[in-house]
Amino acid sequence: SKQTFGFIGLGNMGGPMVKRLLHAGHTVLVFDRDAAALARAVADGAQARSSALDVADAAATIFLSLPDGPAVQHVISAQDGLLQGKRVKCVVDLSTIGPRAAVAASQALGARGIAYVDSPVSGGIGGAERGTLAVMTACPQPLYDELAPVLKNFGRLFYMGAGPGLGQTMKLANNLLSAAAVAITSEAMAMGAKAGLDPGVMLEVINAGSGRNSATMEKFPKAVLTGTFNIGFAARLACKDVRLCLEESEALGVPMVVGAAVREMLVVTNAVYGKDADYTDVARLLETWGGV
Ligand code: NAD
Repeated sequence: SKQTFGFIGLGNMGGPMVKRLLHAGHTVLVFDRDAAALARAVADGAQARSSALDVADAAATIFLSLPDGPAVQHVISAQDGLLQGKRVKCVVDLSTIGPRAAVAASQALGARGIAYVDSPVSGGIGGAERGTLAVMTACPQPLYDELAPVLKNFGRLFYMGAGPGLGQTMKLANNLLSAAAVAITSEAMAMGAKAGLDPGVMLEVINAGSGRNSATMEKFPKAVLTGTFNIGFAARLACKDVRLCLEESEALGVPMVVGAAVREMLVVTNAVYGKDADYTDVARLLETWGGV
């Protein structure tokens, strides 16, 4: 059945996810503090609202696709935030913010009788456009059952348990692997290219062999060998994910030796290429360091 949803955060992931809801016939009320992002969603058929509060006055279920925990906290608790909304009953957070921020958001909203659904996603812009994301959701089971039909617009659903934070922990484990793959693939490719191997042939061999990973399958062919270094995921956000993962592993007493090195590579990438550096700029860094 056709419904009205709110959607806040219309960036690389939020933009295409809004399109999926629109294509399914739903009405989507949107807000982003970036006027250009808002205008793109309106051009796609969404209806602009002028604040998170305006969205929360008009929609019962609101999706968030925001950069990080502080942004989610702001959208919830600011003066023109979700908490004051007349209609909002449920906030489905598709952002990666870590388990601690998810628990805090759940408590803030819960105090007002608003449910928080911890539901990060994986699969990049392509997955968001095609509706093939991995959607990892933690919330009470009855609410999950209620939301499953709309969440299916985004991709394949996985239930992570009732407590807020478990979706986030799952996502951090996934992104630790994704970031490690980008970092280690950058080292291997720089070595081979400098020795005189053809990078395209290298990827073919690796993808036919045991080194195959998400960087060799997608990120390198699309954004490194083409020299565009633009996979649509900011190095700053990947760095946030690994940092949150290390915080969590430290709190749990699980050492992450490799993860710590991966984090430093992302920190250096941002230091060298600036705050808008792309995830795949890690490969550019290794090419520069290696003199490739
Ligand atoms: P993005 O930076 O492209 O988009 C975030 C949007 O949120 C921007 O349009 C920004 O203007 C808006 N925003 C920020 N603060 C706001 C506020 N206070 N009020 C209103 N709007 C605000 O980021 P993205 O790549 O779309 O990622 C969104 C989330 O999804 C992040 O948590 C990210 O880690 C996660 N994620 C990203 C990818 C990816 O490949 N890009 C994949 C999976 C998960």
